[in-house]
Amino acid sequence: MSSAFRHTLACVALLLGVLGVSAAAAKPSASPAAQQRISARAMLQDIAVLAADSMEGRFPGTAGDRMARGYLARRLQAIGFEPGGGDGSWEQPITLVGLTTRNLDAWRFAGPGGEAVFRWREDFIGGSGAQAPRVSIADAEVVFVGYGIQAPEFQWDDFKGADLKGKILLILNNDPDWDPALFAGSKRLFYGRWDYKYDAAARQGAAGAIILHTEESAGYGWNVVQRSWSGTLFELPAAGEARLGFKSWLTEAAVRRLCALGGKDLDSLLAAARRREFIPVPLGVRTSLAFDVAVDTTLTANVVGVLPGSDPRLRDEAVIYSAHHDHLGVGEPDSTGDRIDNGAADDASGCAQVLAIAEAFAATRPRPARSVVALFVAGEEQGLVGSLYYATHPTVPLARIAADINFDGGNVLGRTSDVAVIGKGKSDLEDRLVAAARTQGRTVTDEPEPDKGYYYRSDQLSFARVGVPALYFRSGQSFIGRPEGWGKWKEAEYRRLHYHQPSDEIQADWDLSGMVEDTRLGYLVGLDVANGAKPPAWYPGDEFEAARKKTLEQGAGGAR
Ligand SMILES: [Zn+2]
Repeated sequence: MSSAFRHTLACVALLLGVLGVSAAAAKPSASPAAQQRISARAMLQDIAVLAADSMEGRFPGTAGDRMARGYLARRLQAIGFEPGGGDGSWEQPITLVGLTTRNLDAWRFAGPGGEAVFRWREDFIGGSGAQAPRVSIADAEVVFVGYGIQAPEFQWDDFKGADLKGKILLILNNDPDWDPALFAGSKRLFYGRWDYKYDAAARQGAAGAIILHTEESAGYGWNVVQRSWSGTLFELPAAGEARLGFKSWLTEAAVRRLCALGGKDLDSLLAAARRREFIPVPLGVRTSLAFDVAVDTTLTANVVGVLPGSDPRLRDEAVIYSAHHDHLGVGEPDSTGDRIDNGAADDASGCAQVLAIAEAFAATRPRPARSVVALFVAGEEQGLVGSLYYATHPTVPLARIAADINFDGGNVLGRTSDVAVIGKGKSDLEDRLVAAARTQGRTVTDEPEPDKGYYYRSDQLSFARVGVPALYFRSGQSFIGRPEGWGKWKEAEYRRLHYHQPSDEIQADWDLSGMVEDTRLGYLVGLDVANGAKPPAWYPGDEFEAARKKTLEQGAGGAR
């Protein structure tokens, strides 16, 4: 926006103010007193409680999970929020289905070029897509479907109407990334995520899907795939949607052998998949597969509190602040013998940020026009299941959820002069962020690794998928008083030493001053949304714009 245009808008705002137009249209005050409620001391205290050993790592369905939820509800009550889970409860109960693969050691493929037997974990890994005690796929054909993407807005369709019913689809990870005009170039979109690939394959009626793993296309190593697909996988109960029998990953070496069995060369297939004219390629390879699945259920819950808005017309709309309360529970001992994955940074810190923001809103005068929802979601570490449940069972109609602002992994390293938007370039929430960051003397930058698709790896994704404009930002890497590169180095150190490990605990050298600033920033953006004349919108052409349009059309009289 040019500065001249902004000046005109300011004049219009001034004129509207003179004419006595509703307060909702005027710029909200920065509410300095309310902002002061956001403090390092209070957030550290909340983190200390949630990350205590007594919470046992907050794994879904455990005593620690229940304790953490109880604590969050009591805090919301003390702050002055109202129960928002429905029926006067602070909780929105969720049944999770746990699926554990049994008796699957080898996977055999046969074609004109011979036979190959792949080994569990070493060559392939995966999980049942069906919530049933036994999965069996008989003599299915393997078909290479390129990126497995159907994206009308990019005139891209890898399936081209091919009959893929009962087939095993071999799919590339990521999305086309060589042209900035196509799928946002090297930035990963949801089309480039494995979750999208499996859903797309299921919609084709496929029996199973194999994603080709390469470190480059996944953004992480095979060890990460092994870890996240081992043990029990949690899902929401099936609700009639199309499902695969088997969702799997195969190493690149294994895929090369698989293609060779059918006399095909992987590199030629990769080249063909880069073209818009690509059509699915049957590999001439067949496979059968049968294994048992232990199916059980676990109860957990989202914790929801609401501060009703003050405007009789706008209070039916809401700004949601979300953070996940779950973590990994108790696992293998580390080198010190510690087995409890405390999840202090991930994501007790985000819960503390949302509580601090709730405190600030409770102290905001005048009261915000739209309602403010504090949402602590379950099961993020199990595939965003809590936020997914909320998005399909919203306590506020989707069309009336103005925005979601998510916090996952607060900054414990001190103040930065920059703010990084994860998945930058998606919605005008970012314009509001830029304006609010300016009041802090901070600039807004892109995330350091846009190709890794972090936007699609935490709870904001569940909101975006159903069309709700969703923002995920964090401190950038320019730490005040630190040499260049220090932030990047500390981030790498955290990933190596603490991320998803028992040592993700409060450390003696933590400095929450940057978290305080980020939290105040989140408050300011949400305040702007809560009082703004117009609710946020996706930028035109964004991958989630169509979903928003659909909910707005369905929710007649919803968010304007
Ligand atoms: Zn997290």
